[in-house]
Amino acid sequence: MTTFESLGLSAPLLSALAKNNYTAPTPIQEQAIGPIMDGRDIMAAAQTGTGKTAAFTLPILHRLQAAPKKVSSNQTRTLVLTPTRELASQIADNVEKYGSGLNLKYNLVFGGVKINPQMMKLRRGTDVLIATPGRLLDLYQQNAVKFNELETLVLDEADRMLDMGFIRDIKKIIALLPKKRQNLLFSATFSAEIRELAKNLVNDPVEVTVTPPNSTVDRIEQCLYPVDKNKKSALLVHLIKEKKHTQTLVFCRTKHGANRLTTTLNKKGITAAAIHGNKSQNVRTRALADFKDNQIQVLVATDIAARGIDIAQLPFVVNFDLPNVAEDYVHRIGRTGRAGRSGLAISLVSMDEGKQLNDIERLIKLNIPRESVEGFKPSQQLGETDLSRAAKKPKKPKKPRNNSDRNRSENKPRSESKPRPNKSRSGNKPKPRRA
Ligand code: AMP
Repeated sequence: MTTFESLGLSAPLLSALAKNNYTAPTPIQEQAIGPIMDGRDIMAAAQTGTGKTAAFTLPILHRLQAAPKKVSSNQTRTLVLTPTRELASQIADNVEKYGSGLNLKYNLVFGGVKINPQMMKLRRGTDVLIATPGRLLDLYQQNAVKFNELETLVLDEADRMLDMGFIRDIKKIIALLPKKRQNLLFSATFSAEIRELAKNLVNDPVEVTVTPPNSTVDRIEQCLYPVDKNKKSALLVHLIKEKKHTQTLVFCRTKHGANRLTTTLNKKGITAAAIHGNKSQNVRTRALADFKDNQIQVLVATDIAARGIDIAQLPFVVNFDLPNVAEDYVHRIGRTGRAGRSGLAISLVSMDEGKQLNDIERLIKLNIPRESVEGFKPSQQLGETDLSRAAKKPKKPKKPRNNSDRNRSENKPRSESKPRPNKSRSGNKPKPRRA
């Protein structure tokens, strides 16, 4: 059996892993850590929940520590690019957790917050810089970050970055980097677009695939409750109270829906908070921390806000509304049953969601078992999905647009953002966030 010791990780890393009760490497870690430690390029197909963050973080920290260097001012030895500030923060948390015994410098930069403190911190030089693409380019234009000493580039969740319209930013950033470097490309899936990007990026890569698409679904118990739309909140309250789950993540399709549901739950004595694109970063961080500490029982989230939320052992996910894009269902329920643990995902489905249900059931090739609760039976039958009909090709997520959750400054691709002044903006007040 492969162990972290047998992979050759250094003693401080092994002790950090032991402290965090990581007993054995996950499959992606087993396959990726060795080649990355050897300096190879990697193309890895791995979803959130597989342990992919540690799969690149651990060998990077190992290599940095094995060849310590004084990094010059504003330079960084490693750059990790990721699409959202939530993911960026989680990677930074991981880096700090695993690297606590190492004498390395980490930095985290993303948009939507003041740029000046980030510029100050970059001055001392960085071993691992975790960044969202738009803010990184802003910092580069202001000479706050330089790449002459860069050794390793990680593109994390590359498919999401492309979906979110970051391709031009990514290409610009890659063009700024030294030619000789190690490249680690992580993506949930390897579409033609990702392969095209990879062609000009990775050099003789080791290819690693750990989860065939959608296979996470297999280890998650799923069920659905056909219910009238106006009874969904009451049914949810009933289920939460009955099942006595402490940490429940509830998905809503819209921000208003998430707010409304949060208010209803709180009125019924269930502590809940909403996270979505209209909430400030501080409010979201706080809500997530309270949820992790069991201070609040329910986190109500929209798809974008929830993307990449990292909560170990999340036992219970509820789809209050079904997502419009069937693949989002798989992403949503993938929040539960992580790192080999089992979880329960339930969906409350009203008559008007029949089409979404058909798309989902064809995608996962399963008729989700149906349940009912006395007093919440629907007034009309919800039709069965004919699985023999092929699943429709999943729609591409929409491009960011105004008033959507994606319209957040750190996630906004440069091509979509307002023209920026060329002059240095240091000293300028940051743009007010959309509240
Ligand atoms: P990730 O796929 O990187 O988002 O990681 C998913 C979750 O699994 C995170 O909460 C990690 O802390 C946890 N994790 C990663 N590797 C291991 C491991 N080898 N043993 C136990 N938990 C792990």
